[in-house]
Amino acid sequence: MEANQFKDFGKEMIDYVASYLENIRERRVLPTVEPGYLRPLIPENAPEKPDKWQDVLQDVEKVIMPGVTHWHSPRFHAYFPTANSYPAIVADILSGAIACIGFTWIASPACTELEVVMMDWLGQMLGLPEEFLARSGGRGGGVIQGTASEATLVALLGAKAKALARTKKEKPHMSDAEIVGNLVAYASAQSHSSVERAGLLGGVRMRALEPDENNKLRGDTLEKAIKEDLEAGLIPFFAVNTLGTTSSCAFDRLDELGPVCNEYNLWLHIDAAYAGSAFVCPEYRYLMAGVEKADSFNFNPHKWLLVNFDCSAMWLKDPSWLVNAFNVDPLYLKHEQQGSAPDYRHWQIPLGRRFRALKLWFVLRLYGVENLQAHIRKQIGLAHYFESLVRCDDRFEITEEVLMGLVCFRLKGTNELNEAYIKRINGRGLIHLVPSKIRDVFFLRLAICSRFTEKGDIDVSWKEIKETANEILNNNLCNNHNHK
Ligand SMILES: *Cc1c(COP(=O)(O)O)cnc(C)c1O
Repeated sequence: MEANQFKDFGKEMIDYVASYLENIRERRVLPTVEPGYLRPLIPENAPEKPDKWQDVLQDVEKVIMPGVTHWHSPRFHAYFPTANSYPAIVADILSGAIACIGFTWIASPACTELEVVMMDWLGQMLGLPEEFLARSGGRGGGVIQGTASEATLVALLGAKAKALARTKKEKPHMSDAEIVGNLVAYASAQSHSSVERAGLLGGVRMRALEPDENNKLRGDTLEKAIKEDLEAGLIPFFAVNTLGTTSSCAFDRLDELGPVCNEYNLWLHIDAAYAGSAFVCPEYRYLMAGVEKADSFNFNPHKWLLVNFDCSAMWLKDPSWLVNAFNVDPLYLKHEQQGSAPDYRHWQIPLGRRFRALKLWFVLRLYGVENLQAHIRKQIGLAHYFESLVRCDDRFEITEEVLMGLVCFRLKGTNELNEAYIKRINGRGLIHLVPSKIRDVFFLRLAICSRFTEKGDIDVSWKEIKETANEILNNNLCNNHNHK
């Protein structure tokens, strides 16, 4: 196959990508296709003889785009953002070309070494304590995981190994199985579903604790649960502190949970998947006060820091618990420089890993800290702008304090009304939101997602939200009249 032929394909694709993103506003954010739409559009079998790349490119528009939910449209307000930037896309092309599998230092020294340094850069940008950074010369350091879910599981498994070692020393009569059977972990009932899942995958009990009326998990709630469990003969070993919950972007009280975890010897993991990016701005760091008490910290540059999926940044004060817990050492993976740099295979679940540090390097260099801060500030500003529009319309209420790029709101009235309301909004397909529910109150979440979002886009979304409200409230009136 001729390199030259595909060079043209590559160049065309770059142009296509740029025009897709620059004109994304014009596409309907939600597709109109039905399940099974795609199969009839393509042949039953792979072609025997090669297709022309021009035909493939054409089919992207015909076959793929009709079934794409456009996450980078400024009309996309669902979930949390997923990052996207040209420097990160370009870095992924290079990563695809090098295509090394960086499981050990020798498997591609640049892959490991750039990751170590990038995680130090990033940690310093967030103001993380030196103990988490490799440059401190201590045990600490960072690693790029695929997702926050993996980071939580990895932290839990490290904590499990540590608790097992400690308990075996304290209670030599207990078997490993007995100890593991008695381990108990804690997280807010509003923590991400991946936290509960880490408990299931890790084979340990995970207790969901009720947060306070502001949706923050408090120190006394955790301490009470730990004391109960100790009295019942259980072994508390791990807690997750969420900074920026998925439902409503609430921040657990790290300043309270940290001291409790330290006192009772629990591994404290911080899940700041979305909100962690905001800590590049010093004015938001008060929300992570007490971070020095944690054992591991994780956030997703792939959510809000312009680095395309997948790039989940995790720091550990003492990775030796993972390295020891996950260490299997077949001869074919051994090398002579073992120990002088991290062999990241011991820090993660899979063996294989891509060269993901490249996209951090490109994004951090080509934006600079200053523009990344500006990005965060702009998006938070847009959230406050939307909040102000909602507050001026007394048919609506804001249900959660707006701190980051997420606004939680609802129509005053019943859950049923709001359920019908969001269904209608998404049905019209011009904007896309998802709901959530806390303590039986159903509400809508509007997240500022696309990096292309401007004030005018918020006006468009607000207009759509208002018009749909007019429709549903009028309808409701009619229905009420009919009932009478
Ligand atoms: C998005 C999110 C996650 C899951 O992130 P993945 O990287 O997709 O696993 C976990 N926790 C919180 C608080 C999140 O917002």
